[in-house]
Order: sequence, then structure tokens, then C-alpha cells
Amino acid sequence: MLFQDVIAQKELKEQLIKTIKSNKVSHAQLFCGQEGSGHFAMAVAYAQFLLCQNRAEDSCGNCSSCVKIQQLAHPDVHFSFPVHLSKTNKITQSDDVIKEFREMISQSPYIGISHWNEFLGNQNKQGIIAVKESEAIIKKLSLKAFEGNFKVLIMWLPEFMNKEAANKLLKLIEEPPKKTVFLLVADSADKIIDTILSRTQKVNFLSLKAEEIKTNLISRHQLSNEKAEYCANLSDGNFHKAEQSINTNENDNFYLSAFVNWMRLCYSRNISDTIDWVDEMASTGREQQKEFLLFSLEMFRQCIIGHYSGETLTLLNDKQHQFLSKFSPFINHLNIVGLDETINNAYYHLERNANPKILLLDVSLKFYSLLKKV
Ligand SMILES: [Zn+2]
Repeated sequence: MLFQDVIAQKELKEQLIKTIKSNKVSHAQLFCGQEGSGHFAMAVAYAQFLLCQNRAEDSCGNCSSCVKIQQLAHPDVHFSFPVHLSKTNKITQSDDVIKEFREMISQSPYIGISHWNEFLGNQNKQGIIAVKESEAIIKKLSLKAFEGNFKVLIMWLPEFMNKEAANKLLKLIEEPPKKTVFLLVADSADKIIDTILSRTQKVNFLSLKAEEIKTNLISRHQLSNEKAEYCANLSDGNFHKAEQSINTNENDNFYLSAFVNWMRLCYSRNISDTIDWVDEMASTGREQQKEFLLFSLEMFRQCIIGHYSGETLTLLNDKQHQFLSKFSPFINHLNIVGLDETINNAYYHLERNANPKILLLDVSLKFYSLLKKV
């Protein structure tokens, strides 16, 4: 993890780099911010920079130390985090599930506790940092550094440490061996046991701006501009949440807004904007495009049902509801069969690897005339 791979937080990065370069590394730091603000990613970047053998304005990314940290396998950089204690599975400490932890980080360094609980096999179970973990940490940090440089312990979510574990670590955090650094990464600093809290130096993280999240969703996940904006707006400044929303039921909201735009463009026969819309939709995955077509079919169906049964449409918000109630008169017995066939054909060809750009443009042009049949 390089500093440049941590989203935004420019001033914090500069401040942290400065402390390392001027040898003013505090031995116990608490990175606090909300989930998805990048505090965990920053802690890894910090450790990497601290140990990089060839650093300049950022870590080099290529030296043996950087390579090992990027694989979360550096012998002097330890990770500690809540686990689901289990006698049957013999789980008492972080190292027992380090494989799962590495797997989660390899997906994204923007991590969240409920996602981690899912990785551990039970989304609803509370994790804990227990006394066995503290014993393991004491043991690890009492060893001489393998590579003769700093030793770092990154503890993710110290708020899950119980009292016994915290008491055991107090002395070590207060007076650690030389060149030993504790980086505690907390979502809720107010829940950390006081005695630990008072022994750390706080580094506060701001939540990310929607714009910063959007830009990074596009560059890291190749999302269309429209979808990235949608996910970013729903994320509350939490990049983890934004990433999680890419493939979950949030799709429905995205599809609705894409559908609204599409219908507006087709009705107004705005060819240049239709092409832009098609380009964006074509840049999403094939599975998403198929789902979107099914979603559109359902919308047409809802309009028809609305005509004949007078039922209210169950939509997501007022604005969208307003749109469909205005739009439904344009869906009627003259065009529903044509709309239905067009979508079904498109679905059929999409499934057989048709080019989505050509296909969606073709569908749009058919809609141009179908929607005028009132
Ligand atoms: Zn390096």
C-alpha cells in the first residue's frame, strides 16, 4: 500500500510522512475516523513507508520490505483484529484466521466490520480481541526485529478489545521496546477502554467527500459515471460501503435512475445524449445489462398494471414516483407488445454475446417510435 493509493486525505499524508522523515514517530498512534475513511489503508501505507528501504516522497513499492508488506507477510509488521472465539475451530487469536484476513484485504484495503464477520462465517456474531491475542502480541514484539528496523503492530478496531486483553497490553503500549510502533485503527474511538485511549496519540480522519468516492469508484472498479455517482451519494463518505453497494440490491436504485434517464432520452429523441447513455450502460458488465433489461421490462409491466388496476406504484422515492406516474400514459395497448418484444429480443442477443453498444442503441431507436404511439 503506497500513500498514493490511499484515497484523498492529502494533509494527513503529508503530516504522517513528515513525522517519519524527521524521526518523530510516536510509538502509539490512534488512527480514528469512520469506517471507510481510509484509516486502515493509511496505517498499512505508514508501516510500509516506515520500513521501505528505498523511500522518497512515497514508499518505493519494489524493495523486499515493500513487497512483503503488500502481501501482509512482513515478519516485522503484525496485524491484530477481532475474531470469533471458537473452541471447536480452535480460534483464540488473529493468527488463527490470518488467511481470511489477507483474503479480505486483497479485495480492498477499505474494510468494514460486518463484512469481516461475514468472512468469519457469521455476519451477526460479534468479534473480540481477547487476552490470548494480547499474549501473542507481547511475544511477537519482544522478539528482535527480523530485518533490524522498526516493528509495527497494526490493530484494527481496538474498540473490540476486552478489559482483560487491554490490561495485559497497557504496559507494552506505554513503554514499548525501542523502535516499536503501535498503530490502532478505530471506527469508534469513544468505545476504546480509557486506559488505552489515554496512552495513544490521536490522528483524526475526515470522512471522504462524495466526489472523491465517485472518482475512485470509476478508476478502481470501472464503473460508469452515472453508477459511480449513485453509489457515492449513498455511501455517507464511507468508501467500504460504496464498494459493497456496487453489487448488492442497490442495483435496483441504480437501474431505476438509469431507466428514468433512458425513457426521457427516447421520448425526446435526443440522439447525442442517447449515445452517451448507451456508452455508459455498455461500460457496465453484461450481467448488469441483462438485469437492467429485466428491470425495464418490469417497469413497463408496472405501468400497464397501473392503468388497469389503478394500483399505486411502489417506487423508491417521490421524484421517481412522479416520473413513472407521468410516464405511464405513454405505455399502453398500442406499444406494450412492441416494447416487450424489443426487450426480450435484446436480452436474447445480449446473452449470446451481442455487442452491447450496438444492441442498446438499436433498442433505443425502436423505443423512439414505440413511445410515440399514444
Ligand atoms: Zn520499498
